[in-house]
Amino acid sequence: MSQTSDLQGRVAVVTGASSGIGRAIALSLAQAGARVAVNHSSGGRSAERAQEVCQAIAAAGGQAFAVQADVSQEADVERMLQAVQARYGELDILVNNAGVEDPAPIESMTLEQWRRVIDINLGGQFLCARAAARAFMARFPEPPPHRPAGNILFISSVHEVIPWAFQANYAASKGGISLLMKSLAQELAPRKIRVNSIAPGAIRTPINRQAWETEEALRQLLKLIPYGRIGEPEDIGRAAVWLASDASDYVTGTTLFVDGGMTLYPEFRGAG
Ligand code: NAD
Repeated sequence: MSQTSDLQGRVAVVTGASSGIGRAIALSLAQAGARVAVNHSSGGRSAERAQEVCQAIAAAGGQAFAVQADVSQEADVERMLQAVQARYGELDILVNNAGVEDPAPIESMTLEQWRRVIDINLGGQFLCARAAARAFMARFPEPPPHRPAGNILFISSVHEVIPWAFQANYAASKGGISLLMKSLAQELAPRKIRVNSIAPGAIRTPINRQAWETEEALRQLLKLIPYGRIGEPEDIGRAAVWLASDASDYVTGTTLFVDGGMTLYPEFRGAG
């Protein structure tokens, strides 16, 4: 088995890939040789942005196409997987990236806010993982001896371990991903399907713009990051290539924290 980060010949679907981390992952996987399905949530601006990602991949000599699906909708997810297989004939890698935040104090968080975040961040990742696992098993009814049968990568968050006041829905969704990922890793390892997570720290994307767009906000944020800089989407893209490739062949059931040390209790620096 190849032990490089080469993804030549592999097919990947990346959810929520029209912006931020998903976009960077799609570009990185394509640069490593994968053909990539660039998922976006709806029409309008997200469709245009997904097309721009596909054009950037094509301009760099890669292959990609855009596919609309709301990951919280079962029928959309099934349709997306069928579209990927119709286009590229197979699926090797799922990157479960789509996610939203919808903060509120607990006393005023509505059931709708709770459900929306859980349905997209956790339910959507379940639906896509299930569809991908079915596709991998249909393609390889027996585990293949000389290659992996599939690879599922969850994008969780440092908030799978760090509690987050006023974001109980988001933190619960990411904590849920942690055990969803590990349970699937345990279940699917005998089928030669690897399942892992990346837990990003603070990455400069639209989802957390208020945390980095002013000098003061960035100064406050950097207090939480021992490594002294905000993360860039490409930091996650590079980690995703490694976890999606055979270079990490013996790694399954693990969360890779890509966070500049945010989970290292930075408040304790110099104390005690
Ligand atoms: P982003 O807002 O740029 O990206 C989220 C993407 O998900 C968008 O493209 C959005 O259109 C898509 N999306 C939302 N709902 C969807 C749905 N129902 N179906 C399909 N797509 C949908 O933000 P990002 O920072 O790139 O976030 C990507 C992932 O990384 C999320 O899961 C987020 O929780 C996680 N994350 C981000 C950070 C960070 O600091 N930026 C940190 C930790 C985890």
